Amino acid sequence: MTGYRLIQRKRDGHELSPGELAEIFRAYAEDRLPDYQMAAFLMAVYFRGLSGAELAALVEIMLHSGDVLDLSAIPGPKIDKHSTGGVGDKVSLVLAPLAASLGIVVPMVSGRSLGHSGGTLDKLESIPGFRTDLSTREFRAQLERLRCALIGATAEIAPLDRRLYALRDVTGTVESIPLIASSIMSKKLAEGIDGLVLDVKHGAGAFLPERERALELARTLIEIGRTHRCHVVALLTGMEQPLGYAVGNALEVEEAILTLRGEGPPDVRELTIALAGEMLVLGRLAPDAASGRRAARAALDDGRALERMRQVIEAQGGNASVLDDPAILPQAPVRRVFEAAAAGTVVEVNARAIGHAAVALGAGRSRLGEPVDPAVGFHITARIGSFAREGQALATVHARTPAHADAALAALGSAIRIAAEPKREPPPLITHRVTAAGVESWTSET
Ligand code: URA
Repeated sequence: MTGYRLIQRKRDGHELSPGELAEIFRAYAEDRLPDYQMAAFLMAVYFRGLSGAELAALVEIMLHSGDVLDLSAIPGPKIDKHSTGGVGDKVSLVLAPLAASLGIVVPMVSGRSLGHSGGTLDKLESIPGFRTDLSTREFRAQLERLRCALIGATAEIAPLDRRLYALRDVTGTVESIPLIASSIMSKKLAEGIDGLVLDVKHGAGAFLPERERALELARTLIEIGRTHRCHVVALLTGMEQPLGYAVGNALEVEEAILTLRGEGPPDVRELTIALAGEMLVLGRLAPDAASGRRAARAALDDGRALERMRQVIEAQGGNASVLDDPAILPQAPVRRVFEAAAAGTVVEVNARAIGHAAVALGAGRSRLGEPVDPAVGFHITARIGSFAREGQALATVHARTPAHADAALAALGSAIRIAAEPKREPPPLITHRVTAAGVESWTSET
């Protein structure tokens, strides 16, 4: 009865009290409210939004649904990074060991794929043997030894987000500022961090494509951080086209490995270095972002970040030989090349359409609890603004079956557009830097 009444009240636009919100979420956490009623409630929130007071109450409920870690006994600044969700975004896999190799403690709690976007946990689990379900004791011990551990929300840390996240993934309730903000900040604040760098996406493949809405999300996240004494810096970044070339779990791990080796696509490297620079400033290990970026570049190029990733993979039960031989990663049995139908300028590589096509290949979920296929996805070399010759290979589909490959090729046919334009500027990668003090346009001198 509780659920029914509160769903109706939210649906009809009433503000719920902290007590009412606690009631419905406690009932869900204790399995007294079924998934279908929580899904209906989330849809009501999607349409009606949450007031400031409701959002603050929801963050508290989600944060205290499990343990809030106290990492003060571990020496060093505790700084994490989180992205609001994108396509081909494998930055966390590179950034976490990179920042740890430079002295930051990175207690990273990540998510699985969500809607059309990929998730760090599903990517990590494509490494044979890699465990993302460390207990709090194991998590803490690894942070003490390696300064970096990569896990998902657990039964102990942010358990309510773990369940709501999985439900939102398959019920069309992701694209909501209060739901995204409470999900991200409850996980991150539970880690016991001192500071957080956010990668807030805008563009076709972002949950909030319009830049203004992304900015509103950044401000909301920063404000939640402020009320919890956590310093938050956000970079607004473009997600018009996928980040890097690889989209899909094992394919993205392979590209992350290349980036850790000092290679990798230029955009993945640039964004990783920019975020690392901000983490180092927040952690007071660099006097300014430019020096932080220099330190990050050096640690990628001299193998320190790669070495730290090797230790992390070994510590979490994974086969670290993937770093030397990525062919050990799961491989899809069917590969097909997508070619340009005509010569011209690439004017669109629609990240959202490609994300949906990756889910259809099996890289994400369309039903609660479904397993993902680690091997499938895309390798897309077409970039907005580049020139394509007729018949030029622009992408490779990695599929489980020929039928899946055919459907994916058709999806690429709509997602990648070539026009007879002489020139098209590539979309900018990083557009703004947002802090509690305000918004600045991004330049690499920022
Ligand atoms: N990342 C999260 O952790 N949660 C969201 O809702 C979106 C992105």
